[in-house]
Amino acid sequence: MATSDSQVDVVIVGGGFAGVTAARELSMRGRRAVLLEARDRLGGRTYTKEHDGHPMEFGGTWVHPLQPNVWAEINRYGIETETFPVVEGLRQAVVSSGHLVDLSDDDVARAVEVLDEFCAPSMALFPEPYAPTWGPDPEGLGDRSLRQHLETLHVKPEQRDWVEAMCCLLAFGPLDQAAATEFFRTHALSGWNAGLAMAALSATKLVKGTRALIEAIAGQAQLAEFRLGATVRRVAQTGDGVRVEVEGGESVEASAALIALPMNVLNSVEFEPSLSLVKRTASQERHAGAGRKTFVKVKGDIGNVSVLAPEEQAVNWAVTYARSPQGTWLIVFSANPNRLPMTAFDDTAGMQEALQPLLPGTEVESIVGWDWANDPLALGTWCIYRPGQLTRVLPELRTTEGRLFFAGADSAAAWRSFIDGAIESGYRAARDIDDSLTG
Ligand SMILES: Cc1cc2nc3c(=O)[nH]c(=O)nc-3n(C[C@H](O)[C@H](O)[C@H](O)COP(=O)(O)OP(=O)(O)OC[C@H]3O[C@@H](n4cnc5c(N)ncnc54)[C@H](O)[C@@H]3O)c2cc1C
Repeated sequence: MATSDSQVDVVIVGGGFAGVTAARELSMRGRRAVLLEARDRLGGRTYTKEHDGHPMEFGGTWVHPLQPNVWAEINRYGIETETFPVVEGLRQAVVSSGHLVDLSDDDVARAVEVLDEFCAPSMALFPEPYAPTWGPDPEGLGDRSLRQHLETLHVKPEQRDWVEAMCCLLAFGPLDQAAATEFFRTHALSGWNAGLAMAALSATKLVKGTRALIEAIAGQAQLAEFRLGATVRRVAQTGDGVRVEVEGGESVEASAALIALPMNVLNSVEFEPSLSLVKRTASQERHAGAGRKTFVKVKGDIGNVSVLAPEEQAVNWAVTYARSPQGTWLIVFSANPNRLPMTAFDDTAGMQEALQPLLPGTEVESIVGWDWANDPLALGTWCIYRPGQLTRVLPELRTTEGRLFFAGADSAAAWRSFIDGAIESGYRAARDIDDSLTG
């Protein structure tokens, strides 16, 4: 059964921030859109889940005024923000050479300076960080992994391990698979300043969760229809339009389609004619982001802590999320989940063992979260390009193919891999589609 094509200008595949922003923008330009989302909710790789009285963010969380698009949306809808992690009384530490080393504010300031040194190529490589371009690369830094670039750093062990832990948090995948340029780009976007980059990555979140923001955006998309539980299986370009087929037999016909899917799942949809070889290859080789973020409840009030650890550890960051005398909720990041001595996602004994180097003596009570790397609708976390992918993949992922337009954080011009990038790409795609339908 096909939806009447005369009613629909655009069919949007994917209801993350990119697709939903595009739906609103198209709607505000008088275009009718149908958005097809496979999950039973909007938000994609952002997911606010109420648990134990807290709005927990299983996916994307942090936002920052340096990120112009998401910040404009926050202001537009009057969404409340808060500082997180709480800085008062924060105990900071790093696991270095197997030992837990407490860090004073001065130690952290020096480590941030080392991160500036680590990111020194950012000025030459990304002189215009808000454009999808990069400078000349005579040294071939685009092919260098974060692991290789770390080998160039000769500083005190705890400073090196602090920077390595930061690399783990940025890459959220194996450091030999993540491109060093990903850190240079983030540094450049933060005014070529490591302190600001740290703030952009993890200092401000939305009080009621990212759900509040995506619902506000969707709420203004009055000409758009959102269909949840609609898994797209096939997208065919016809003579004068596009036909999108949904699992179960339904289809939608429109003048154009916006594909707002994660790069890693592009190949799970059949395209007729096929997508370009570069897009297909990129989807097959995937980006490197495949870590695990979980909320872990430990016994008692263990205080306000933020402990980092380098790649050899199974956990690379544990930070206090919420405290009460009965227990502390931590957010736990593991860049290499296969290092976790866990037999299942909620294996408390395994998590307890993994946490000991960072937080000796902690007793784990429960674990919640989302396994993005094994979620067939994401097949990964945030997009971190592999060495070489920036040059090979980025321009093509953004390129229109006939009546198919593309959006998503994974191919954004500036804050690629962030909520901001998803919104930026939604603006761009809606503008391009509107122009093409007008022209
Ligand atoms: C654990 C984690 C932590 C993160 N932390 C941060 C952070 O702190 N700050 C930040 O800015 N960003 C963060 N990110 C990244 C950010 O969440 C994403 O980059 C951004 O939300 C991606 O938006 P998108 O619209 O491009 O893609 P997605 O959100 O992935 O949206 C794509 C949509 O397509 C749907 N879909 C897939 N296949 C089909 C199909 N066949 N048919 C129909 N629908 C389909 C998916 O269900 C999904 O809803 C994090 C991500 C993760 C996973």
